[in-house]
Amino acid sequence: MAVTVYAFTCGWLTLPASILLAGEEGNLTVPVPAYLIEHPKGRVLFDTGLHPDTQVDPDRRLGRLAPFHKVAFAPGEGIAARLHTLEVAPGTIDFIVNSHLHFDHCGGNAQLPNATLLIQRREWEAGHDADLIDRVYYEPHDYDLGHRVQTIDGEHDVFGDGSVTCLPTPGHTPGHQSLRVRTAGAEVVMTGDACYLRRTLEQLHLPSVMYDREQMLASLRRLRALREAGAMIITGHDPETWQTIPQAPAPLVPGKAPDRVPPPFERQPAGKRD
Ligand SMILES: [Zn+2]
Repeated sequence: MAVTVYAFTCGWLTLPASILLAGEEGNLTVPVPAYLIEHPKGRVLFDTGLHPDTQVDPDRRLGRLAPFHKVAFAPGEGIAARLHTLEVAPGTIDFIVNSHLHFDHCGGNAQLPNATLLIQRREWEAGHDADLIDRVYYEPHDYDLGHRVQTIDGEHDVFGDGSVTCLPTPGHTPGHQSLRVRTAGAEVVMTGDACYLRRTLEQLHLPSVMYDREQMLASLRRLRALREAGAMIITGHDPETWQTIPQAPAPLVPGKAPDRVPPPFERQPAGKRD
């Protein structure tokens, strides 16, 4: 099955390390990732990065979260611009799989008007519950934009062939999900914020802020089991891992063999034979 995955950086955030790893000191600068999955039956984005207004006035856009986040988000790093570099029109995206509804994962939804949101029902409901909006730091202006919404419960096979599957990984938020892509040659799991950093997975070192600690640990154990079974795990915001991952326009997971390099032209030009 020719499924191709591209990884983009849609800006960078600098925030207190303790938010990502409880008890850590200092700050961390982390990428904001998004991924394009090209499947013969459609185009999927896993997360969409930051809202374009964040480039203009980040403090205003981030509101109550602004004191904890310094944003570096240059023109050309928004999801629409990233897609244009691959000659993909934003209006041709069929599905947005939002891992969850935080500002750095669904802010770019605004630039993808024709897509259907594939979101865990629990997450969508949480994003419309006044108490949880407050507690879990949702900002409805990031996601309540009138898209078609398909809510799902648990695992969901997007194209019905096992190649692109939403995996529930709650804990960071009530209905968080990760995405698994399987091709003939590779299995990749993009964790979103179920696992911020490689250290989160290695040491089960939890963040200081999460919705449900036990659910988060269970999700991390699930991700560990997938890794032990051979999957490549791409964590949500790890700056070191991110440096090792091919970035668009290079594919993260190539869907087809690279173009064959033609053999050197050996035939002698006509009329020059001895
Ligand atoms: Zn995040």
